[in-house]
Parts: sequence; structure tokens; C-alpha cells
Amino acid sequence: MSELQEQFEKLGHTITPFGEVSDAVLINTCTVTREADADCRKIIRRAQRISPEAFIGVMGCYAQLRSDEISAIEGVDAIFGNEEKFHIPELIGNFQKRNQLGLYVGKLEHIEFHGACSSDNANHTRVVLKIQDGCDYVCTYCTIPAARGGSRSMKFDDLRNKLLELNNTAFYEIILSGVNLGEYKAPTGENFTDVIKLIESLDLKLRFRISSIEPNLVKPEILDMVTHSKKMCPHFHIPLQSGSPDILRLMKRRYNVDTFINLVHNIKEKIPDCCIGVDVITGFPGETDAHFQETYNLLDSLPVSYLHAFTYSKRDGTAASEYPNEVPHPIKKERTHQLRLLSEIKKKEFYLSQIGNTKTVIPEEYDESTGMWQGWTENYVRVAFKGNNLNGNIPCQIKIVSVENNTTNGIVIL
Ligand code: SF4
Repeated sequence: MSELQEQFEKLGHTITPFGEVSDAVLINTCTVTREADADCRKIIRRAQRISPEAFIGVMGCYAQLRSDEISAIEGVDAIFGNEEKFHIPELIGNFQKRNQLGLYVGKLEHIEFHGACSSDNANHTRVVLKIQDGCDYVCTYCTIPAARGGSRSMKFDDLRNKLLELNNTAFYEIILSGVNLGEYKAPTGENFTDVIKLIESLDLKLRFRISSIEPNLVKPEILDMVTHSKKMCPHFHIPLQSGSPDILRLMKRRYNVDTFINLVHNIKEKIPDCCIGVDVITGFPGETDAHFQETYNLLDSLPVSYLHAFTYSKRDGTAASEYPNEVPHPIKKERTHQLRLLSEIKKKEFYLSQIGNTKTVIPEEYDESTGMWQGWTENYVRVAFKGNNLNGNIPCQIKIVSVENNTTNGIVIL
């Protein structure tokens, strides 16, 4: 449950799902792309249509960076920045509609870490545990450091207690998350390697997945621990962003192409079944056809399992927004499309390589009409399997027997 939700429930409020008529609506926003900003504005207007009498509060990253745009939307009662959103009850007192907009957006100088823990699917088989927030890097396309502030992390003791607490719930999989997770640094000095050591040292029924980690932060000891661990899932999601050394330099990323190539080969050498996902951005300013081809060819040649391809979006206030040679939108879109097609090919190859393997799957979705369950293996393969007598959430052993469309088929072994 998120810290905010908990805070409001303790004060006696009832949380209703978005879309239901309510007395107050709080909208947490994102500002990673222009589309994200536009979506936030649409959601604010939708909330007003659904609950015209409700107090409307807008918070989060878009609120932090573009309160001017939000204040221009009629009917918004208050705007809260990324620190202020944790102090809403003290700031506003009650949720009455206002005649005048309340603007509560400060500088992100001494921002504290606020943990969050939320289920990422309706059946509550997996939980996302945020242990780090903010970022000290200066990637030239990114608004996150400005919107979220510098890197800060959950206290190590709090993390230990949280893990023990989660071990007593129905969850079986914990996704460790953070804006720049590999930069985890507890106030008492422990780093991300210590987080994995802690997980290994505790007697837990849980398995853990690393949501995403920068290539320069997959240290040899982290890879060694994941290789030998029974709790850490063999799955790395690693941002590459571009396979062109020129573009990587313009992006001010903290690794070069060779580091990335060596990392992927190292992972596969140590953990042949490991799933490797990659983030890529297309259409960064100055990206020529030749640069894009370098990215495409690199990813095509590497044993990666899927791609998340994003189209570059110019964000005011970033260094890249001043760069010349913008790539026309249709070209950016076409490049993204090509990488998405490559992703499908990579995923199918990876899934085909898994046929015959027996993996641990947490049944998470059941279709009564077909009697089929679906779930994820530890190495992030989606599997569909029959199992009328299975208990949702209890892990089982599934042998992967075939690949069909976007999933694999399996049979229950245990
Ligand atoms: S590491 Fe990630 S969050 Fe940090 S500045 Fe770069 S892209 Fe943004």
C-alpha cells in the first residue's frame, strides 16, 4: 500500500478507484514525455467531468515542473510538488472546493525518501517495492532529476523490516524499484550490493526481480550474486538508449557501447537462461540514419530478449532541448516501429530457447472459460498452462512446451 494511501486511510478517508464519483480526487502525474503531460491534462478534465463537485488536487512530477500549465486548467483546487504531496492534510486542512488555487510546490533541496509499495497486478501476486528515488545523473534528455530531486534511499533497517513484513503476506514476488536503483545508498552507507546480500541472508519465501539497472552499475559482485542466488530472478532490464557512440556521448550516459556489449555477453555466459530487456530511445537530436542503423545492428547482434523502444520527446529545461538537428517526427516514429518489430523477433527467439525448460511460475491470472492460468517464470517468460486445482499465488513448476503468439504454453510438473 502506498504511503499516501495509508496516510489518508488513517485519517478516516475511504479510497475509491479512479472513475468513481468522489468528494476529492488526487491525481499523481508524470512528465517523462510531452504525451505524458497531455495525458495528465486529459485525466484532470475527466476527473472533473466524473465528480464536478469534488476537490481536485494535482501532484507529482508534472505538478513539480509545470504548475503554470496545470493552474490554467479550470477547476483545479490545489497543486502539490513531489515533497509537498506527502504533507497534503497539514497543508490544506480539508477537501472543500476553493475559490482560489492553492499552490504548494517548493524546491527539491532536502527532499526525504518516501517509500512506496504497491501491487502491480489485479491478483496481487507481485509487489513493487520502491527502495530508491531521485537521480544525481545528468542525462541530457531527462527531466527526472529536476522533477524528483537527487538520489535518496530507504533506510537499511526499514528495508530489512519491510522484507520481513512482505514475507508474511500473500505476495511471492517483489520487484525492487527505484528511479536509479543501482545507486541505492542507505544513510548508514549500505549500497545496492548490500541490498542483495541482505536478501540472501534472510529466510524468505519470496523471489526478487530487479526492475531496471544502469549498465555501469551492474557490478561483477551483483552479477555473481544473481548467478548463484535462489531468490534473485535471472532477469536484467538495462537501459542502452543508443548503440551509437556519438549519440551516447550527446546523451551524457555514463558508459560506452563496449561496456554494454561486454555486460550482455558476461551475463549470458554466467546465466545462459537470463532474460535481458533493453530500453532504447529513437530520434535523439542529431541521430542520423547511420546512427540509428548502428543501434539497430548492435541490438540485432546481441543476445537480448526484448526491447522497450521510446520515441525521443523534447522536454523544456533539459540540455538536449537546445540541441540542433531535431529528427522529424515521422522518422522518429518509423525508427521506434522498426525496433518494436525487432523486439518481437528477439522475444520469440528467447521464448523458443526456453522450450523444454522447467521453471517456477506464480499463477496470477485464471480464465474460467478455458481453465487456463497465466504467469511469469523467474526469467520473465509468460506461460499459459492448464490447472483446475491450482491455487493462485502459490508457485508451481511448469515445463515450457511450445511458443504461441506472445506467450508460451506449459504443463504443470509439480
Ligand atoms: S539515469 Fe535515468 S533518471 Fe537519471 S538522469 Fe539518466 S535517464 Fe534520467
